[in-house]
Amino acid sequence: MKLKITTLPGDGIGPEVVAEAVKVLEAMAASHGHEIEARPFPFGSSGLDEAGSGFPDETRQACLSTPAILLGAVGDPRHDHLPPGERPERALLHLRRLIESFANLRPVVASYVSKSSPFRKETLEGVDLLIVRELTGGLYFGEPRGIEGEGKSRRAFNTLRYDAKEIERIARVAFDAAGKRRSRVTSVDKANVLETSKLWREVVTEVAQDYPAIELEHMLVDRAAMELVSHPSRIDVLLTSNLFGDILSDEASMLAGSLGLLPSASIGGDIGLYEPVHGSAPDIAGKGIANPIGAIASAAMMLRYSFELENEARAIDDAILEAFAAGYVTADLTDSGDAKSSAEVGDFIASRVRG
Ligand code: NAD
Repeated sequence: MKLKITTLPGDGIGPEVVAEAVKVLEAMAASHGHEIEARPFPFGSSGLDEAGSGFPDETRQACLSTPAILLGAVGDPRHDHLPPGERPERALLHLRRLIESFANLRPVVASYVSKSSPFRKETLEGVDLLIVRELTGGLYFGEPRGIEGEGKSRRAFNTLRYDAKEIERIARVAFDAAGKRRSRVTSVDKANVLETSKLWREVVTEVAQDYPAIELEHMLVDRAAMELVSHPSRIDVLLTSNLFGDILSDEASMLAGSLGLLPSASIGGDIGLYEPVHGSAPDIAGKGIANPIGAIASAAMMLRYSFELENEARAIDDAILEAFAAGYVTADLTDSGDAKSSAEVGDFIASRVRG
């Protein structure tokens, strides 16, 4: 099979981790009889530098021409002074909207318990959850939005809006996923305060009627924030809106041991977007120490969801576990002096995938 993908390495550690993910994809292709065509395009701050736009036209065309996109991260402190609409991070929102991949899947598995983990070992036992976050609606996209006025009379506003169809389609993704897992959906909202959450709860309850084998519980977001750190292994599929999902998924990343371990897939449209959960990490960019596993595991999700290559995806997931078992981890996961570089971790995983 010829796998055509667009890569958007982006900024900071983005290019470093995407290079390792492509290395592993090439090893997978060589060992499983596939061919990879991965073409990089400027995006984010690198797009602003190279083409005067965070999301240049050429990049936009490339994204629409392949079934899958592998993204590193965007964001550079040099552009932090720009107004929100011109910041490179806004390119990411435009990309998500463009490809209409409304369902963001973020698996969190506590498969590596680092010495620096803030959690007790017992709390992490059996943690294997999937966050299903609505990605193209809610507060991040609602209009009107803006900042008005001058001096002390300045006011700012955003709009939180969901319609029943948007809620139904994301709920179906969560229930379908739960059917292949432990058959439990925890739907997170703020129905005691927000009208959007009241509708969210109603629609999710209606969708649940079509899935009699799946157990549904509703949970307020404040309680969910507590449950994630007190009893995380009770959660199977956590379904939630764009804003709550953004915050809860970063909280959940701590269960995995490092933000650098977490992959994500954005699906639902014709084109899938795969990216590690972390940002551009300017504090460690250029040092060759970024954890590449979030990006590598995102590439595995790409094989699974966009190309339906389950065996190939599993070969990469298994190789990541072998890296943990062999102690091949970057500095974010170990406080002893034997941390490996991003390239060493990538090489190790590629060699195990090659067999
Ligand atoms: P961040 O995720 O970049 O970094 C948070 C902390 O985690 C830092 O200490 C960083 O060193 C560490 N970290 C992150 N990824 C790591 C990895 N792979 N290996 C080891 N350590 C890692 O978040 P931030 O510092 O809040 O944001 C930095 C920039 O990234 C900002 O410009 C922000 O807007 C942007 N950002 C982009 C995305 C994205 O592209 N999807 C997501 C979040 C933040």
